[in-house]
Amino acid sequence: MSQPTQPTQPTQRHRADICDSDLLLLQNKAWAQAMVGRDARYFARLSDTQSPKFLWIGCADSRVAADTITGTQPGQLFVHRNIANVVVHTDLNLLSVLAYAVEVLEVEHVIVCGHHGCGGVKAAMTQRDYGLLNKWLLNIKEVYAHHIEELEAVPAGKPREDRLCELNAVSQLQNLAKTLIIQKAWNERGGPFLHAWVYDLGDGVLHQLDSLGPDHQVASPFRLDMPEEG
Ligand SMILES: [Zn+2]
Repeated sequence: MSQPTQPTQPTQRHRADICDSDLLLLQNKAWAQAMVGRDARYFARLSDTQSPKFLWIGCADSRVAADTITGTQPGQLFVHRNIANVVVHTDLNLLSVLAYAVEVLEVEHVIVCGHHGCGGVKAAMTQRDYGLLNKWLLNIKEVYAHHIEELEAVPAGKPREDRLCELNAVSQLQNLAKTLIIQKAWNERGGPFLHAWVYDLGDGVLHQLDSLGPDHQVASPFRLDMPEEG
């Protein structure tokens, strides 16, 4: 084991960061008190159980706060977020969230929400080396390559970037339908419904792009055998 290093004096920047995080703790106290002021049993009820109807798969972008933009409260959304709301079939984190939401919580809807002005999508449209991030951006570059003719017909810059944000959300929706988790749930309980949405940072409005239900015909290479009934 290495020797502990001498504690360093906090710099001006560190002190500012500590104050910023203290502010969050203070705001949390004020929020908790306000909630109890409105409903004394609010946290007692909320801590008993959760039965959200929705799984939200969104971008990690700080401007796309799932509960704020949908007007939902704690307990209503089960949430997974990553850079550019990507559904990767080897992502154990996403698959665990999906399995728990679909198989245990039995959510009725899974929403993949992209957003215009997505930094991850913009990065994927460049040739720049982003180091570790390159591997993640490859998932979006694949969508770009798949739709390159359509995208090159759209004016370069924001219109083309925003169109790729939309195509990416729809493509990730298709990826959800390729999972055993979703195909099994469709077979066993006729749900959940899957939705691809895009959020417009410019006006705060969500738009539906596509949706899939249990009657969706998954393309044959991705269709998985279901166990025989009882
Ligand atoms: Zn984003």
